[in-house]
Amino acid sequence: MAKNGFTTTIVHSDRRASVEHGAIHKPMHPSSEYAFADARELAAVFQGKAGFTYARQGTPTTTALESKITQMEDGAGTVSFATGMAALAATFFTLLKAGDHLISSKHIFGNTNSLLGTLAGLGVELTLVDATDVRNVEQAWRPETRMVFVEALANPGTQIPDLAAIGEWCKSKGVVYVVDNTLVTPLLCQGKAVGASLVVNSLSKHIGGHGNALGGAVTDTGLYDWSDYPNIAEPYRTAKSTSWGLTQIKKKGLRDMGGTLASEAAHRLAVGAETLSLRMNKICANALALAQALSQHPRVAKIHYPGLPDHPQHQRATQLFGGLYGGLMGIELVDDVDLFDFLNRLKVLALATHLGDNRSLVLPMAHTIYYEMGPETRALMGISDNFLRVSIGIEDIQDLLGDFQQALA
Ligand SMILES: *Cc1c(COP(=O)(O)O)cnc(C)c1O
Repeated sequence: MAKNGFTTTIVHSDRRASVEHGAIHKPMHPSSEYAFADARELAAVFQGKAGFTYARQGTPTTTALESKITQMEDGAGTVSFATGMAALAATFFTLLKAGDHLISSKHIFGNTNSLLGTLAGLGVELTLVDATDVRNVEQAWRPETRMVFVEALANPGTQIPDLAAIGEWCKSKGVVYVVDNTLVTPLLCQGKAVGASLVVNSLSKHIGGHGNALGGAVTDTGLYDWSDYPNIAEPYRTAKSTSWGLTQIKKKGLRDMGGTLASEAAHRLAVGAETLSLRMNKICANALALAQALSQHPRVAKIHYPGLPDHPQHQRATQLFGGLYGGLMGIELVDDVDLFDFLNRLKVLALATHLGDNRSLVLPMAHTIYYEMGPETRALMGISDNFLRVSIGIEDIQDLLGDFQQALA
């Protein structure tokens, strides 16, 4: 049988894995512990056989969601976490040691920047580069370089790294390539297509989509061979060497850090994921229409949106993302508009942090997520004082346009 399309695969995923009574959803399993009828089986599951022991290490419900994410990313396996930050933390902390060198794009989510600062404090050498040009990544290389990290579409600046070229370069150097695919989603581009070793998705955003559950996931694309990676502990050097990294993230990440996704949240995220394609197509259409209209507005100084021809990586976005450009845009207003007064005049858009929701959301960046880091780091990351992050939802486009027009008038 031919491989089914993106949405067909997701909406039939649980059923095809034969849920009891013909149920179409995997049930929410609240059990903390799983009992065994056979002591040998209990030992085998503790020693690596597929199965369940204690819910910190996963439940049938989180496993069903992980299977959907793996299918979306066309990967080899996935581990879910309580949040996107927990997924990132588990990836970095289980795979890197003091003295290792990490090259990261400087255009990243503020909270991820904070996490990288924590890693640096523990002895991981960190170089932040402008990853929109692969040459900057190449120049940062050292013999201790273990990993390159980028966001496929940066939150909130919308920069797009030289994704495929970085993937090829990482392969040639044997460096692990971690791509945070949260803003792109596997619908627009699978991490595997640009050579990622591991793909991180915050499920709280587009994949869940309804603003009612947090979650994160790390997907192994199967492209990286971990046999020469020095930081894999002996117990995880079993089975195929392309799977060792994810095994260590799952075993150590969930055990040592405990950022486990609850079954209830996993169920909500899985239901949300069924409509990712429908929502994302509408969100991208709304965002493009809005970006085009607002870029002509005399009170708008600059729109950062990859769908506009003046975006520095517009061509790259068109090549990689199948003609869709995501739901996030940065808006800078002209100086004589008071940012806070403008925000207070908005009636449809919600003033809230978050993105990838059904509702359109707006947030001033320098005063919120990027406040604590101070003006120098903000300047390095390209966040000006009047930068607004706008996450477009599925509302009727005339209502979004109208709201901006009345608030700018
Ligand atoms: C929101 C976000 C995260 C963190 O996800 P949470 O689920 O909120 O912890 C990580 N990366 C990117 C690009 C994000 O937008």
